[in-house]
Amino acid sequence: MLAMKIWNALGLIVLTAFASAVAQPRYDILIRGGRVLDGSGNPWFTRDVAIENGRIAAVGRLDGASADRVIDAEGLYVSPGFIDMHSHANSGFDHEERRAKATVNNLMQGITTVVFSEGFAWGQDERIQDKSGQWSASGIGTNAAMFVGISHVRREVMQDPEGTPTEPEMEEMKRLVRQAMEGGAYGIAAALDYWPGHFITTEEIIELGKVVGSYGGIFAAHMRSEGLRSLWWVESDPSPRVTLLGAVREMIHISKAAGIPVHIGHIKSTGVPFWGMSREACALIEEARAEGVSVTADQYPYISSGPDGNTQLFKWQPYLRESIPLSIGNEDISAKVRELKDRIRARMDEDATFASKVEKDVYHEILARGGADRMFVSELEERPAYIGKTLAELAELRDESLYATARYLQLEHDARIRSYSMSEEDIHYYLTRDYITVATDGFGLPGVHPRSYGTFPRVIRKYVLDEEVITLPFFIRKSTSLPAAIMGWDDRGWLKKDYRADVLVFDLETIRDRATFDEMDLYSEGMRYVVINGKLVIDEGQFTGELAGEVIDKAKPSS
Ligand SMILES: [Zn+2]
Repeated sequence: MLAMKIWNALGLIVLTAFASAVAQPRYDILIRGGRVLDGSGNPWFTRDVAIENGRIAAVGRLDGASADRVIDAEGLYVSPGFIDMHSHANSGFDHEERRAKATVNNLMQGITTVVFSEGFAWGQDERIQDKSGQWSASGIGTNAAMFVGISHVRREVMQDPEGTPTEPEMEEMKRLVRQAMEGGAYGIAAALDYWPGHFITTEEIIELGKVVGSYGGIFAAHMRSEGLRSLWWVESDPSPRVTLLGAVREMIHISKAAGIPVHIGHIKSTGVPFWGMSREACALIEEARAEGVSVTADQYPYISSGPDGNTQLFKWQPYLRESIPLSIGNEDISAKVRELKDRIRARMDEDATFASKVEKDVYHEILARGGADRMFVSELEERPAYIGKTLAELAELRDESLYATARYLQLEHDARIRSYSMSEEDIHYYLTRDYITVATDGFGLPGVHPRSYGTFPRVIRKYVLDEEVITLPFFIRKSTSLPAAIMGWDDRGWLKKDYRADVLVFDLETIRDRATFDEMDLYSEGMRYVVINGKLVIDEGQFTGELAGEVIDKAKPSS
């Protein structure tokens, strides 16, 4: 009996050893015991996540498994990496320095993939294939996908970027778009709110959209207007005022006419009369979606925009029909701006009608920005005491009208003004919509806007935890599987077996953004581990030096 028992016990040991040798593989990375949010919008479940050869090898209870690197994630949250639908991080990728190439500002907020979906889209004067090859050779910090910018194509083909393309020019533009789609682009992009972007016509976008549609591509835009008016426009301009609602209708029209999905970049609602209009804008989108029109959007969680940081109360483009050439050097810009302002002043001196139009325009613009009490002087060499004061406060201090103060600040001097043109209420409402992703519209280099450093952790800290506007699983879905679905990716944006291993491990207790409008370049906190394509890029909260990103090419199936 005893011999039998020993024999059985031995057999069991042998069997167990054999079973573990076969069924318990050794992984590259094993993340143990975390609260896994898989990207679906489901609440967390305690799971282990195994990574092997750049992919997720298993998600589940992986007792007995081993790995080269085991991460204890007990009490931490594990999710797919964030996909930033709206980025300008190429400014970092193109930089010499490794930390800039890595876009550590993005890694520290959990971004593992960026999409260049605005304006020039991937830079200037370069073919998408060349850019892609260059980045693959030099290494980039996150994955990246590109759109082809309509402005870029226009500049290549048209003599006058402020005109309308002729028939042969249109044909040439289509050829370039086709070439870009075959080179890996995901669609066309445009920034229609600016000068000269607003010269791009709806018909032109539809024509190019049809080309893109034949490749399964989409149209992404910074829309023609994001509130009370277009950014470039002044009230005295003879062209009709375009509002947020008109701009949304244009997007819906383009989608229907070209037969392609459309994506609205950094949806917002700017200007005092437009606060609260997120509801109307979303109602239009939802009505279109109900009819089968594919409209999606992204948003960033700040009430002041990029152009708000450089508020221009006297807009030379509509007055002088002249813009600053893109080719101009940084030093020459201030001289050119000074010259343009002098010309506006001279014209006002000799033309009283023009002067009174300008005055009216300035009042309109104050309203379009957020009101005189939400516009702060951030730089003024001549009067440092004015810095930090609002336009309303300064008008009172100087015992002048708002217009006279604005004139002193920006026509006679070069005061830099930051406006807060948006309302928290609209940010909240957009966050609750299930077709709007979180995105940064951020940059790879310092000094532009706190969103480049803080967007995703800010949504978690402020809007999920403190204000409870949305839940954590809903936020994760918005930042992972939703953008992946918009882009048509079937191997990213979820924590699932065989998906690409872009994985975050973060601490919900400490996660927060630190960047502010006063100090824009502070890394976010709380990302403990970030894995991109199976490689650790943030380890115990520190950048590892690894450039693990790759260009995601629409024209090529993923390897
Ligand atoms: Zn934009």
